[in-house]
Formats: sequence, structure tokens, C-alpha cells
Amino acid sequence: MKYLAFFLFFLTISESYSFVPKDAFTFDFNIKTIRMSRMKEKKIDHSIDILREIFASPEFKRRILSHRYNGRYQFAMNKGLSNSQIYHKILKGVEKLHPYDNNAMDVELELYTDYESIVVGFTNPRTRRIWMNTKYFNRNSPAEVASHLTHEWLHKLGFGHEREKCIKRKYSVPYAIGYIVRDLAKKYRY
Ligand SMILES: [Zn+2]
Repeated sequence: MKYLAFFLFFLTISESYSFVPKDAFTFDFNIKTIRMSRMKEKKIDHSIDILREIFASPEFKRRILSHRYNGRYQFAMNKGLSNSQIYHKILKGVEKLHPYDNNAMDVELELYTDYESIVVGFTNPRTRRIWMNTKYFNRNSPAEVASHLTHEWLHKLGFGHEREKCIKRKYSVPYAIGYIVRDLAKKYRY
């Protein structure tokens, strides 16, 4: 009986990992680029193709659900949400400034140039816009741009992280899921 219970538990776990909800396949990207050359827009388009494939993959779901921090299945600074709740929040795409469950990423994207800075990009809670430094945008692969875009967008869903570099920061939702995107993009050989 005990073994049967264990087996059923295992079946449930593996089932929940491999089952990808419909939301994952229909997830859309409404990215408005601001004053951007066609060549740079093409790079963004490529990054979006990568994200579309990653968001629809069972691997993306599995990596979020199995994320561990401090010995537990959780993210740091998770706003009281479980890994599963975070995954579904992502698929709903409800940004704080665009609070509709429209199953999409809604952002504006603008490039700026600051060669002196080591900041890859930034955003703030008062705007739908995300800024990316051309210094990094130009040299980064579409996979890295996809990872960065995801990081900044997760701020739009209300997730934060420590300002200073520390252990906890890399387990935060924006960092950890940004890294998951980067890893999976490599796996798909982008
Ligand atoms: Zn950040």
C-alpha cells in the first residue's frame, strides 16, 4: 500500500511536470519598439521567437515548478506565491500597469546608449517601457536579449530583487527565471 501511494505520488508529480496548459501555447508577445532600426527590430523578433518556444515548453514549466531556494521549492522574494502560482501568473501576463488577463507580454522597448555604464537595461514601476543599453544589446545574442527581456518584464508583474549583488538575488523571480530562459535558449541552440 505504501509503495502504491509512493508510485501514485510519483505519477502525479511527473504528470504535473509534463502537462503544459493551453495558456503556454497561446501566450503572445505585444512588444512595441520605440524608434528602432529595422535591423534591431529583427533581433527583437528573433528573441520573441525564442521566448514563444520556451514559454510553450514542458521544460520551462518543469524548471519553474522545481526551482529551489533555501532547501524548499520556492523563489526568493516570491510575494507569498508558490512556484506553480508564479508559473500561472506568468502565463496570465497580468502586468501591474496593464492589469488584464490577456495571456500576453505587453511592453514597450526602447534602446539607449551608455558606453560608460555596466547596466544592461532597466525599467521602473511607473511605466510599461523597458530600456536596453545598445552597448549590450548589440553584442548579446537574441537568446541573451530574450533572457534580459524576461527579467525586466517580471518586474512589470510585480516581482523584485535585492539591489546589491548577493546569493539571495539570483534566486529571485526576475533573475532565476531570466537564467532559466537563457539556459533553455542554449539548449534549443539559439
Ligand atoms: Zn532587475
